[in-house]
Amino acid sequence: MKTIGLIGGMSWESSIEYYRIINKATQQQLGGLHSARSVMYSVDFAEVEALQHQERWAEATALMVDAAQRLEKAEADFVVLCTNTMHKLADDMQAHMQIPLLHIADAIAQSIQNQGIQTVGLLGTRFTMEQDFYRGRLVNKHGLNILIPNESDRQDIHRIIYNELCLGQIKPESRQRYREIINHLVDQGAAGIILGCTEIELLIHPQDTTVPLFPSTRIHAEAAVEKALQP
Ligand code: GLU
Repeated sequence: MKTIGLIGGMSWESSIEYYRIINKATQQQLGGLHSARSVMYSVDFAEVEALQHQERWAEATALMVDAAQRLEKAEADFVVLCTNTMHKLADDMQAHMQIPLLHIADAIAQSIQNQGIQTVGLLGTRFTMEQDFYRGRLVNKHGLNILIPNESDRQDIHRIIYNELCLGQIKPESRQRYREIINHLVDQGAAGIILGCTEIELLIHPQDTTVPLFPSTRIHAEAAVEKALQP
């Protein structure tokens, strides 16, 4: 079994889910008392959030590279960056790493393609929904059609992520707002919805929608287990 290196803390509310899913999936595959070999380096999210919103991406990259190198020193075999947003820095990180980074968008694309779906809606932070690093990879590398919410819907999604979900606050009114936004995307032709922020699956579940969901934490964590158990 390979050792999974996790960069966590963005936010820890979802890192704990990665840890739970990775161990559960390993036990399901191997049975008995089996659990995953893993190492986590968890950052202070207040520092990361400030760098993101002040667009200080070079400093954010240095922080992520430092985290990845700590995992290499701890003898991880590959790295799982436990956030969609910080995959903005994935290529720069990989350039400074000796071990591979398991890209979250590639795992999600694989899961969408396994279900034979072509057009999906994307929910995530503004960075993830609006910039090219994530959508571009899904479109150009994987040939998917990606729909994103309108401006006011994007604002609400982003606000609820940082002001509520990353603080562990799960509010029925926010779930209702997300349901409305998902319905807008389904009306526009989305045949599935990417929960492209690792905290959204704490709020939104399959019963909240009429189309399949692609929860990024679960999909990424399960892809990590698959990779760890490959010979
Ligand atoms: N966990 C979120 C994501 O998957 C947002 C937190 C962050 O900005 O890293 O994008």
